[in-house]
Parts: sequence; structure tokens; C-alpha cells
Amino acid sequence: MQASNVVIITGGSRGIGAEAAKLFAQNGFAVCINYVSNDDAAEHVKREIVQSGGHCISVKADVSKEHEVKRLFETVDVALGRVSVLVNNAGILKQQCRLDEISAERFSEILHVNVMSCFLCSKEAVKRMSNKYGGVGGAIVNVSSGAAKSGSPNEYVDYAASKGAMDTLTRGLALEVAAEGIRVNGVRPALVYTDMHASGGEPGRVDRLKNKIPLQRGGEVKEIAEAIFWLASEKSSFVTGSFIDATGGI
Ligand code: NAP
Repeated sequence: MQASNVVIITGGSRGIGAEAAKLFAQNGFAVCINYVSNDDAAEHVKREIVQSGGHCISVKADVSKEHEVKRLFETVDVALGRVSVLVNNAGILKQQCRLDEISAERFSEILHVNVMSCFLCSKEAVKRMSNKYGGVGGAIVNVSSGAAKSGSPNEYVDYAASKGAMDTLTRGLALEVAAEGIRVNGVRPALVYTDMHASGGEPGRVDRLKNKIPLQRGGEVKEIAEAIFWLASEKSSFVTGSFIDATGGI
């Protein structure tokens, strides 16, 4: 199938990515959900989209690895056609602790999964979207975090630093490709109800902190998906190199 609206969502099997996948599908996009290990979750999202009349494929690939990213994009080229939107959403965090307890191996893994993935996927997307390479333009949305600003002290400075790097990449790439038909923007969520907080050792983290959020509640995945979709859509056609803080006011 060739479709003019083709989106690749990294980490599309669960949480924010899964919700974004459903929203893009509802809006007529052919969707590729990427994931790394959870076959059941990916299958569930794909089935839901297909049963609602949408078009969806899932591709298992570790987006921190260059050869797997190339396979992901080549699979989409053949199955869906040229990608028009990339959502760099895959991300991980680890057990809450201080910086002096973080190993070099852990720091490296966080940077690879959260930042190298964004770099590698953006590179493949630019080669397909840029009018410099014969493309017709597109949009890249990077899912960063409020942690890029807070630094996440005593929780995960490594994760926060990775999101700070992602924001810098967003700004630099946006300016590099602005004249080539590609817009690049970021969404910085915070305290959204997903599985991610369990990875940090505190599944109930959002509820513990919700009273400190000015809006007095945690965020829902739909609220983040809407921000991602807006930045990918023509409704934000004059916006590039920008960020939406979807943090409840933090
Ligand atoms: P989540 O529920 O834990 O889901 C993570 C997703 O990333 C899963 O689909 C997972 O695939 C995928 N993934 C992890 N490592 C991968 C890899 N190496 N290659 C490909 N896919 C990989 O996370 P979430 O809360 O929705 O977070 C999504 C994004 O929002 C992340 O970038 C996160 O940093 C950011 N964010 C979240 C919050 C929040 O409060 N939840 C706040 C700020 C920012 P599997 O299912 O196969 O494991």
C-alpha cells in the first residue's frame, strides 16, 4: 500500500506511543508501531487499529542500534511507502538513585536508547523527507521530558541529561532542515500515567506527586498524544524548533 500520510512511532506498543498510534490512525495515517520486546502489547495496539478500520504494521527493532533502525525504515518503505511523520518516542529510565550510584554502563544505555535512537531515526527520516534528497517534506516530533529542565535530582539525572540532549538535537536539526520542507519539534511531558514509573521502582509515583502539580492531577496519555499529533499536523505549519510543555504547569 502507498499512503501519503505514513507515520513511524518508536516505542508505539505501550503508553504515550500506543495512544499516539491510535490517534494518527484515526486521522487517516498508515501507522508503523515500533517496539523492542513486548510482542503482546504491540499486537494488541495493532489489532485495535486494524479492527477500527485503520492501517498498521508493527516492527520489532531496538532503535538504539543503527542496523535495526535501517531495517525498520526499509520495512516501512516497502510496506507503507515514504515516511511523512516520525515520532521519536521510545525511551527508558532505571531505578531511582543519586548520580554517584549510577554506573557508566547504565549511563551509556540510557543515552543510547533515549538519544542515539533519536539521532539514528531522524537521520533515516531526513534522507526520505528532505527535498534535498527528492523527498516532499515531513515532520519529526521528539518526545522529551520535563526532566530536561528539572534535572531529576535524586531520581534519574542520567535520564534527565538524555532528554536535555534530545532537546538540543531537536533545535539544531530543526534549523538544519527548515528550508528542506521538514519541521522538527518536541513535546516535554511530565508525570503521565504509564508503565514507565514502575521501571524507576515506583509505580505510584504520579499519585505521590500529583498534589505538587499546579493542575492538581497527573497527565493522561491522550493529552500527550494530542500535543504530538498537533505538532505533526499541518495545523502547526509555522512551528519548528519549538517545544510544548505538557506538564500540568510544573
Ligand atoms: P512506556 O509506557 O514505558 O513505553 C515505552 C515504550 O518504548 C514501549 O513501547 C517500549 O517497547 C519502547 N522501547 C523501549 N526501549 C526501546 C528500544 N530500545 N527500541 C524500541 N522501542 C523501545 O513509556 P511512556 O511513559 O509511554 O514514555 C514514552 C516517552 O515519553 C518516553 O520517551 C519517555 O521518556 C517520555 N516521557 C514519559 C513521561 C511519563 O510520565 N510517562 C514523562 C516524561 C516523558 P516494549 O513495549 O517492547 O518494551
